[in-house]
Amino acid sequence: MKKKLENILFRLLSRHSFMSDHEKYLYLISLAACTYAVSMNFFLMLFHLTVNMTPLFLISLAGFLCNMLDFLLIEKGRYLPVGLLISGTVIIHTLATAICIGTKNLVIVYLLTTLVMQFIIPYASTRVRALVIGILWASMIALVFIDYHLTPLRDIGNAYGALAMFNIHLAFFGIGIQLTIGNTIWDAILRFNHAELEKSRSEANTDPLTGLYNRRYADTFFEKLTTGKLEQVWCVAMVDIDDFKVINDAYGHLVGDEILMFISDFIKTNLRRTDLVFRWGGEEFLIVLKDAEVSNAFRLLDKLRDKLASENIETHAKILNVTVTIGVCPLDTNNIEQSIEACDRLMYVGKNAGKNRVIM
Ligand code: GH3
Ligand code: MG
Ligand code: MG
Repeated sequence: MKKKLENILFRLLSRHSFMSDHEKYLYLISLAACTYAVSMNFFLMLFHLTVNMTPLFLISLAGFLCNMLDFLLIEKGRYLPVGLLISGTVIIHTLATAICIGTKNLVIVYLLTTLVMQFIIPYASTRVRALVIGILWASMIALVFIDYHLTPLRDIGNAYGALAMFNIHLAFFGIGIQLTIGNTIWDAILRFNHAELEKSRSEANTDPLTGLYNRRYADTFFEKLTTGKLEQVWCVAMVDIDDFKVINDAYGHLVGDEILMFISDFIKTNLRRTDLVFRWGGEEFLIVLKDAEVSNAFRLLDKLRDKLASENIETHAKILNVTVTIGVCPLDTNNIEQSIEACDRLMYVGKNAGKNRVIM
């Protein structure tokens, strides 16, 4: 339930680019207030229709329509008219109810619920909200006067009980929700911000075409290695696609890209989960193999190379066979750059020896 609510809030938050957390809060809490107001007006519409109280039915209908307009205003970030519309329609509804059917139905609770809203939803400056609080106070006094000096236009008999029951629950939940929802919303905002940060971090660390780690992340990773946080035996390998330029020239860059994506996936799925694959350059990949002696690494990579060579790669233009040449050597965590240069040299030895091979 909590997860579901959070998912809804996340989806709402990702629909806009907000300037601040305050704005995110205002957006979500205004949506909540509006949803509450719209359901309340909908119920009152039905009620007044059932008891045949046409003026109050029309006022609820107007309130309902105003709340619908509020949703549009919220999407446009215009919170001041939203707050004023919600407060205004409630005040008019309350006073009209008192005049039409009296105050026996505990209509005053509408004003109390709206009073809480002035403290919880920062839809306007403090001064504006203080003014609305003043109007709410005056409306409460007006209710007392209406009660003493005016005879209600209609007596709705037994329906008073039902309406009073509805109103009590409306206030109970309305005030309760307002006092607790703030924390839930702030919680969701903090989690949302965290998820966004993680997302942008992982985007910054991966190559958009292949989804592999990029060189930037390689720097971070090697830094961790040299500072000794990861203490296993490592090997490093440079993988270069053979005659890739020929493929690009013959079938176009798009086919080239498809091959790059295929080979990236192929390398990832055919290595152990603990090994890391980086897109090192255009058609070059750097592999870091964890807990592997160089002979083991050689065997693993030669199997990978052999399997790839016999793979029929489907591209949108043609089915192709592609090979790679690999240089592999132990990774000296104190001399990472030299280790990478060494495996790069071994890879070139393989190219000169005829390609499609692993050299250690
Ligand atoms: P060798 O077997 O000696 O490695 O030859 P090669 O053709 O693979 O190597 P070369 O360095 O001559 O050419 C690499 C080509 O890779 C040239 C470049 O256009 C292509 N390339 C680099 N990055 C991308 C890319 O992101 N997409 C595509 N389609 N091609 C790329
Ligand atoms: Mg190359
Ligand atoms: Mg190449």
